[in-house]
Amino acid sequence: MNYLEMKPESLMMTFGYKPKLSEGALKCPIFQTSTFVFNSAMEGKRFFEVAYGLSEASEGEELGLIYSRLNNPDLEILENRLCLWDKAEDCAIFESGMSAISTVMLEFLNPGDLLLYSRPVYGGTDHFINHVLKKFNIESIGFSPDDTKESIIEKIKQSGKAEKLSLIHIETPANPTNALIDIEMCAAIKKEFSTGEKQVFLSVDNTYMGPMWQHPLKHGADLVIYSATKYIGGHSDLIAGAVLGSKTLMNRVKGLRTFLGNMAAPFTGWMLMRSMETLKVRTEQQAKNASEIAEFLRNHHKISKVYYLGFIPEEGDDVQKEIYKKQYTSAGAMISFDIKGGEKAAFKFLDSLKLIKLAVSLGGTESLAEHPYTMTHADVPNDVKNKMFITENLIRLSVGVEYYEDIISDIKQALDLV
Ligand SMILES: *Cc1c(COP(=O)(O)O)cnc(C)c1O
Repeated sequence: MNYLEMKPESLMMTFGYKPKLSEGALKCPIFQTSTFVFNSAMEGKRFFEVAYGLSEASEGEELGLIYSRLNNPDLEILENRLCLWDKAEDCAIFESGMSAISTVMLEFLNPGDLLLYSRPVYGGTDHFINHVLKKFNIESIGFSPDDTKESIIEKIKQSGKAEKLSLIHIETPANPTNALIDIEMCAAIKKEFSTGEKQVFLSVDNTYMGPMWQHPLKHGADLVIYSATKYIGGHSDLIAGAVLGSKTLMNRVKGLRTFLGNMAAPFTGWMLMRSMETLKVRTEQQAKNASEIAEFLRNHHKISKVYYLGFIPEEGDDVQKEIYKKQYTSAGAMISFDIKGGEKAAFKFLDSLKLIKLAVSLGGTESLAEHPYTMTHADVPNDVKNKMFITENLIRLSVGVEYYEDIISDIKQALDLV
């Protein structure tokens, strides 16, 4: 039996941790320490040479730890485990999803460069692109899920900065509308604008699906990004982020992380390891609940539209159907829906929920509901939001692990009051 041929869920409890290095402790302890003791000055010199890229580690060389901004067992073991789901070579854990995203953008974009991104994206990402990157003279072009490869290429060429395109950043399924973007199509666009001297990179924010059900690297992405605050953490009790990709690209990401100092703390790493043991059972239950709830919502007369991946095989257009079949192995547990009656009806519904809590964030064990137009996406211009179906009618629901009939009863009694 080959240990590494096992499914990731079988390895989440033990992979990468050696009890004998920690007094036999079954579980990886929290290494609450800022620094690590070298056995000799020579050893310290060698660790730094490798950590700062002055020299490559040789075959089989065991390198020790230096300082918790560079490496810490709670982060390293977690990173090795997280690699298993996406079959990535390397991973870096950050103190938030936003620090993962901003570090990737700052590493792969220089002043004067062009960024291509899909819309809608997470509100914080949208703000970073349109306000923070602008200060560094980095311009961006947004495209929408109904743009074709040809129309996107045309937009890039029309910008007059085609040779400056350096990064494509997409979010699929898009938050909060569940619109799908074709990763292979974006990889083809990336090739089209890459030259011998300059490679364009493709990063995919996979937060909405989590690491179980979509594997962007397989479809041609260079980097996968997560807000680990969501499904990976899964209990709404921590903030963290992750980036995964090849050793070569991750060396760059980890290099900038070292100097921005935005790695997660040991305690957060320890919490995430604990969370990942149940990632599969949690998310499978959440997805099962979501399918029941989506069906209930679809048949309710006060609701005009439900945005749920599970409906794409019957209701989606041909392009969305094709992407769904290619990229996803589950419909996930995020549902959005249009309630008839605008903000007034939407707020009455949200204020009437009892079991489901009115809060932003997603992917936790408890069900949460929010109003993207005035909350998570408040910062996106109204005309852009309306074009992307983020209207005043839209409610976003993150489905938890509760008994599904209790969630449905709560939704039903709140709708009755609207
Ligand atoms: C929450 C979220 C982020 C930001 O993550 P934080 O951990 O809150 O910094 C980024 N992308 C998506 C899709 C998210 O849902």
